[in-house]
Amino acid sequence: MGPMAWVDIIVFFLLFALFVYVFVSVPITNLHKIYLAFHFSMMLWPFCQFVIKTTDNAQLQLFYVQLAFINMTLLALGWLLFTLFLTGHSKFLRRKISLLIYVPVILVTLSAIFNPKSMFVQPVHGGYVQRAYGPLFWVISAIFIGYLIVSLYFMYLALKSEQVSRIKKPVIQMRKGILVMSAFIFMDIFLNVVFPLPIPVIPGLTSLGILLSACFFVIAIRRYKVFDIVTIAHQDIIDTLILGILVLDDNETVVEINQSLSPYIQLEIGDRFDIGTFLLQEDPISEVDMFLEAYRERPQERNEIEVKYNNINFRHIKIHAAPIMVSHTMVGRILTFQDTSELHRLIDETNFQNEVLQLRNQSLIGIQHELFQTNQKLELMAITDSLTGCYNRHFLTQQLEHEVMKNMKYQIPFALFLLDIDFFKSVNDNYGHLAGDEVICNTVEIINKSLRQSDILARYGGEEFIIYLPNTNQDQAYHIAERVKQAVESNKVFVQNVEFPLSITVSMGFLAIHEFNKEISNNPKTILNEMFESVDKALYQAKNEGRNRIVSIVG
Ligand code: GH3
Ligand code: MG
Ligand code: MG
Repeated sequence: MGPMAWVDIIVFFLLFALFVYVFVSVPITNLHKIYLAFHFSMMLWPFCQFVIKTTDNAQLQLFYVQLAFINMTLLALGWLLFTLFLTGHSKFLRRKISLLIYVPVILVTLSAIFNPKSMFVQPVHGGYVQRAYGPLFWVISAIFIGYLIVSLYFMYLALKSEQVSRIKKPVIQMRKGILVMSAFIFMDIFLNVVFPLPIPVIPGLTSLGILLSACFFVIAIRRYKVFDIVTIAHQDIIDTLILGILVLDDNETVVEINQSLSPYIQLEIGDRFDIGTFLLQEDPISEVDMFLEAYRERPQERNEIEVKYNNINFRHIKIHAAPIMVSHTMVGRILTFQDTSELHRLIDETNFQNEVLQLRNQSLIGIQHELFQTNQKLELMAITDSLTGCYNRHFLTQQLEHEVMKNMKYQIPFALFLLDIDFFKSVNDNYGHLAGDEVICNTVEIINKSLRQSDILARYGGEEFIIYLPNTNQDQAYHIAERVKQAVESNKVFVQNVEFPLSITVSMGFLAIHEFNKEISNNPKTILNEMFESVDKALYQAKNEGRNRIVSIVG
C-alpha cells in the first residue's frame, strides 16, 4: 500500500472520531443514539459484503467477513437495547446483571477474530468470497437468534401490559421489522449455507432483509413520532392528568381522549360524541337545556355545566366546553371534565357541621338564659330576707357604706330609723311562733306601704328593722317616721287560729343627718357603726319612755 492510501484512512478515522464526538456530546435522547448506532450497523453488512467481492486479497476478505459477522451480532444487541428503551425497560440496564447481555457479543467478536482452527470460516478456492462455515458459525447464529428472541419477549411484555398504550403501535411496527429481517436471514442461511442449491449463491438476501426492516423502522418513527419528545411528553401529561380531556373536530368526532375520562365515557378516537345524549341522562333538565342551547347556538363561547351522575357512583362532574380557533375559524372543541364530587362532599360536610354547631349554639343560648335567671334569683336571695322578702342586713350595710360616702361627698341629707316591734315576745308566747312570723310579715307590708319607692327597708335581726331614707331632710324624715308608726298602730293584724285582730306598735330610733362633720372618719364602716350606735340608743330610749314612739337624734 502506498503512502497516499494512508492519508485516506487517516481522514476516515478523523471523520469517524468527529462523528463519535457529535454523537456522544450533542444532547439527543438515548433512543436517538441507539437508533443511529443501530442504523449504522445495518449499513455495515451490505458494505462488507460488497467489499469482500471487490478484492482479491484473501486477508482483507477474511477481515470483512469477520467484521460483517461481529457487526451482525452488534445489530441484534442494538435491536435488544432499542426495544428496551422503547418499551420503557431501560431501567433494567442500570442493574449489574444487565452486563451479561454484552457477553455474547464479546464471545462472538473473539471467536470471529481468532477463527481457531478455521472453526468459524474456511476459505474455498483460496479466498473468502466463497466460504465454508464451521461449528463456531452456528454458535454465532444461535447467539444472534437469542438476542432476537429476547427482544421479541420484551415487545410481547409491552403489548400485553395495559398501561402504556402510546408505544403499542410503534412496537407492533418494529416487530414486523424484526420478523421480516429474521425471515430473510433464515432464508439466506438455509438456501446458501445449509442446503446449497446447485445454482450459485443467491446474493444480497440478508441485505434485502435489513433494508426492509429498516423501512419498517422508519415508518414507525415517522408515523408514531417515536423520537418526538414533545409529543411524547404532551401525551404523557394528557394521560396522567386528573382532568378528563376530550378533543372534538368540527364534526363532533373524537380526535383525542385521555385515560382519565374512561370511567365516565367509553369512546375511541374516530367515534362521534353527542353531548346531548351524554347530558340528558341526568338532571336538572333546565340547566342542561340552557347549556345545550349555548353549546349548539353559540359554539364560539366558553360554556360550563355541572351535572350529578347517579349512575356513576353519584359523582358530580363539571364540564367545560371551549372552542379551538385557528385564525378566527372554529376547527373543533376541547371539553374538559372535572370531578367535583370531593368538593361537594366537603361542602355538604361543612353544611352539616354548621347545622350541628347552630343547634349546639341554640342549646348553649338556652343554658345561658337559664343560668342568667338562676343567677338573678341567687343574687336576689343573697340580698333579701327569706321570711319577709325585704332586704337583709348584709345588703343594707353594703348599700349604706356606699350611700353614706356619697351623701357626705355631695352634702346630701338622709335619715336612718331603727324600728323594733313592741312586746313581741308576748305575741310569740300567747299565739305561738308562727303567729309571731305572720305579725312580722304583716307589719313589714304595712311599713313598706308608708315608705317611698327610694326608701330602703331591711330586716336588721329578729323583729328589728332599719329604714334608710336617701336624699331626705329632717322634716320629711320625721313626717315619714310618724306615718310609719301610725300605719302600724292603726293596722289590725289577723293571724291564723286567732279570732280577734292583734294590735301592734313599734318604737323607733330616729337619726337625720343634714350637716357633715369635716373631721369625721372617712372609713364608711366606722361612720356606719357610729350611726347604728346612735339610733340604737335612741330606740332604747324610746322603749324606756313607754314604747310606741319615736326618739330622734339630729346629726
Ligand atoms: P320590747 O318591747 O322590749 O322589744 O319587748 P320584746 O318582747 O319585743 O322584746 P325583744 O325585742 O327583746 O324580743 C324579741 C323576741 O322576738 C325574741 C325572739 O324570740 C323573738 N323573735 C326574734 N325573731 C323572731 C322571728 O323571726 N319569729 C318569731 N316568731 N319570733 C322572733
Ligand atoms: Mg327586739
Ligand atoms: Mg321588740
